[in-house]
Amino acid sequence: MAAEELKDISIIGGGPTGLFAAFYAGMRGASARIIDALPALGGQLMALYPEKFIFDVAGFPKVLAKDLIRDMATQGLQFGATTHMGEIVTGLRRVENGDGVHFVLETDAGDYSSRTIVIAAGIGAFEARRLGVAGEDAFEEKGLYFKVLDPKQFTGARVLLVGGGDSAFDWAVNLQGVAKSIMLIHRRDGFRAHAATINQVQELCKQGQCDLRTFWEVKTIEGNGKVERVTIFNNKTKEEETLELDAIIPLLGFHSDLGAIKEWGLDTEKADIKVNQLMETNVPGIYAAGDITAYPGKLKLIATGAAEACIAVNNAVHHINPKAKVNPGHSSNLAIFGQKDD
Ligand code: FAD
Repeated sequence: MAAEELKDISIIGGGPTGLFAAFYAGMRGASARIIDALPALGGQLMALYPEKFIFDVAGFPKVLAKDLIRDMATQGLQFGATTHMGEIVTGLRRVENGDGVHFVLETDAGDYSSRTIVIAAGIGAFEARRLGVAGEDAFEEKGLYFKVLDPKQFTGARVLLVGGGDSAFDWAVNLQGVAKSIMLIHRRDGFRAHAATINQVQELCKQGQCDLRTFWEVKTIEGNGKVERVTIFNNKTKEEETLELDAIIPLLGFHSDLGAIKEWGLDTEKADIKVNQLMETNVPGIYAAGDITAYPGKLKLIATGAAEACIAVNNAVHHINPKAKVNPGHSSNLAIFGQKDD
């Protein structure tokens, strides 16, 4: 597979640390890309707690996780860093030729060439939790979807959502007017979604625009090459019902795994990557920042991840071009922001 254009910095992970690394790369005039396993930017904040308030980010007395990520993405991508979402980085090659040394990151969708790498992979790649129903893998992307990238894909479809968290409830609302019918089932009667969205869905149910059922689970998925029928059962009464469906979307949360990164010869401590005070790993040209790093005194916080991203990127820039200063100077003085004293 032909590798994508050579960039200065490839960032593994589009959480808060990766987004701030992209910002700093752009501020330093370095080309950058972010690769993330999730369909959306934001790492743990969007996958695990989009509706929670955060109180310890400098400058924000309180901020919703999803709002912080919205603004971090605006800031982080302003200089043109590209994003490659829904791709897990599995392989790393080191290439040495007449032009020097660079790396190639491998995902299931392609190869990405890069002069340096910043690993901002947090607690690892998030993968959607499966239903645990026999034969479900055969239907993946053939009526069974673990993420919604483009709601238009479900235009006119009879959709079954499974789950009791924000994603399931958000899509029960957001697929209104797109899907032909929407049923949402959850295995218990407690929900983890935002109260306002639960109320919204309950209101839609009253208007006959959604069918919300508690204590129901998926038993079987059937169809000829694609999802056609799903049998659900009530885990209290054992009642069963077979539904004619076009799509089933389980939104059951994620589990995370450092996966292949563990095999790259990087010094690690438990599941984290050891770095020095320059955020260098033991492999020249590969830096790490954020929750994935280990060093004495490490704190796993958004604030420390941002500081580490800044240190990692400035040292990566200096690694690529030793004449470039490590110290970026103050943004308030930089010409890139239209200031005079660059
Ligand atoms: P992450 O947010 O974990 O992002 C890493 C990204 O890398 C993920 O999107 C993942 O998909 C991607 N990735 C990993 N491996 C691969 C791979 N191989 N290929 C492709 N992509 C990959 N911190 C605070 O400072 N204040 C708080 O109030 C706070 N509250 C929290 C509440 C909860 C419930 C939780 C769970 C955490 C909280 N935290 C809080 C911690 C904070 O969320 C983390 O410190 C922060 O998310 C770390 O950011 P990161 O970018 O380093 O990693």
